[in-house]
Amino acid sequence: ASLEQIQKKEPQYHCYLTIDEEGAKKRSAAVQKQIDDRTLTGPLAGVPAAIKDNLCTRGIKTTCASKILENFIPPYSAEAVRNLEAAGAVILGKTNMDEFAMGSTTETSFYGITRNPHNPEHVPGGSSGGSCAAVAAKECFYALGSDTGGSIRQPSSFCGVVGIKPTYGTVSRYGLVAYGSSLDQIGPVARNVSDCAAVLETIASHDPKDSTSVKRDDCDFTSALYEDVKGMRIGIPRDYFTEGLQAEVKEAVLAAAKELTAKGAVVEEFDLSLVEYAVPAYYVIACAEASSNLARFDGVKYGYRTAEYEGLHHMYKKTRSEGFGAEVKRRIMLGSFVLSSGYYDAYYLKALRTKALIKKAFDAAFEKYDLILGPAAPTTAPRIGESLSDPIKMYLGDIYTVAVNLAGLPGISVPCGMDSKGLPIGFQLIGNLFREKDLIRAAYTWE
Ligand code: GLN
Repeated sequence: ASLEQIQKKEPQYHCYLTIDEEGAKKRSAAVQKQIDDRTLTGPLAGVPAAIKDNLCTRGIKTTCASKILENFIPPYSAEAVRNLEAAGAVILGKTNMDEFAMGSTTETSFYGITRNPHNPEHVPGGSSGGSCAAVAAKECFYALGSDTGGSIRQPSSFCGVVGIKPTYGTVSRYGLVAYGSSLDQIGPVARNVSDCAAVLETIASHDPKDSTSVKRDDCDFTSALYEDVKGMRIGIPRDYFTEGLQAEVKEAVLAAAKELTAKGAVVEEFDLSLVEYAVPAYYVIACAEASSNLARFDGVKYGYRTAEYEGLHHMYKKTRSEGFGAEVKRRIMLGSFVLSSGYYDAYYLKALRTKALIKKAFDAAFEKYDLILGPAAPTTAPRIGESLSDPIKMYLGDIYTVAVNLAGLPGISVPCGMDSKGLPIGFQLIGNLFREKDLIRAAYTWE
């Protein structure tokens, strides 16, 4: 059914970069046999999934939507993908994204844009736009995305689906092509909260191959589906409802807060400080890490190499000039600049200090509240082309999501209405470290 839907919808939306029809059919038959033999059980057995194209899949092309990896076929799979496969997942293919996950619209992909299934004149958000659009268009039952500064939560809200960014360290980053390593987390995108919980439960694991992986014994996330929201304390940051927030988004999010109150949560407003510093601190840190992480794409080890060159340095230069897109180059330059000896203290170190203060502000909030509620993005999905001309404006659109990554916290985006153009609106719940169950509990009760 998923393959049929792909055939019908893909020409219009372009959610996928690679569709592995043959592999999926073979796998599906093999899993069906295991299910019949009762050697495989569990909620994900046989369920078709899509994987963001920055997650390595053994034998299946993994491009990060970049020209520089146009022919890269990984010899291994990401740990999260392996966990899914062990649970019987059927992988349909790899989804479109912003190049190296840098962007908020999926327009920086080298392989063309993805369209929002709710209104094809609009973007699906990003960078996991292909994953979220594929779930929204029913071209898969769920998908994996990655979230460095909002790339699961923002496109989930633009596409009217549910997405979770787990606590840093919950899902192994082994096999995820690194963007900002101290911020990156893999997470699920699905049609509803319970599907998301089931997928997260499956992909979460301690992995010695990722030195930041955390050993947890509380990853039975679906158990949170049986609890309600009564007595939960939810804080709404006043600073999230200021200028620049689309009126319809504000209304829908506040209406969701009211419903949560009606269901027994205690909801109140509070001041979360430092909100305006999150975006600048994030872009300094993310670009610094990216400039270092992307040094490995040099035409020697992976993917694309320029056709003609004279000597090694010329080969590096030409390969990288031709292989990376404009947004990726901008970030490598910005990152190299803030790490350079003359500017390190003024920018990079300052950003790290800001990050520590932001974490403190969240710590203080979580002394009073179980959850923080706000929008996932200041607007609904922009029209195609609108964001590309003004990168600063695009960066500012990440105001509600990036602080969560800086502090390592879990967050969920849940659909809560539509604007006048029929574009989905999502609210975001932010939880304390390792409190995904609080997110799932509240979101599921609301849903
Ligand atoms: N939009 C943000 C950025 O461009 C977040 C991207 C992400 O989470 N991968 O960096």
